[in-house]
Amino acid sequence: MKKLEEYVKSIPDFPEKGIIFRDVTSVLQDAEGLHLAIDQMQEKLEGVDFDVVLGPESRGFIFGVPIAYNMHKAFVPVRKKGKLPRATISQTYDLEYGTATIEIHKDAIQPGQKVVIIDDLIATGGTTEAIIKMVEELGGEVVKIVFLMELAGLKGRERLSGYDIDSAIIYE
Ligand code: IMP
Repeated sequence: MKKLEEYVKSIPDFPEKGIIFRDVTSVLQDAEGLHLAIDQMQEKLEGVDFDVVLGPESRGFIFGVPIAYNMHKAFVPVRKKGKLPRATISQTYDLEYGTATIEIHKDAIQPGQKVVIIDDLIATGGTTEAIIKMVEELGGEVVKIVFLMELAGLKGRERLSGYDIDSAIIYE
């Protein structure tokens, strides 16, 4: 049987020269790859006490919802600015070129709730850091963060030191 990491296609020089892009679609488009990905991410939550899964648009939805559903927890979407219809809080953070703003509904997390963040990949950790700020602003507690893939060389884990981070696949 193939291992999870064998389903990830690595694309050299995408989106620009010198970058190796780890393509999550190559995992999703294989029934066994999809199964392994969800199962191995969900295993990281065994024994963790939590209330809510938070997943950022759009690949955080793909992995966050099945795990929330399987574990009978709520799911909160983190969306790009301007998409959510009710009162929101937002965070703006730096990208390689320019900035991005993400939002969640103000009533999505209640003070004291235990939150798990799920996404496809951690690079610099900037996206996750912005999500953590919103959760904490609403009085939630981030108890665990799970990724399918981690690009360890970009030191996202160091940026988020103090938080419990686990990844199904780690690229050194
Ligand atoms: P960060 O905020 O720097 O941690 O970047 C995380 C986001 O960048 C992820 O949610 C991905 O969508 C995207 N990303 C960065 N590098 C890759 C890659 O090699 N493959 C797929 N997505 C990537």
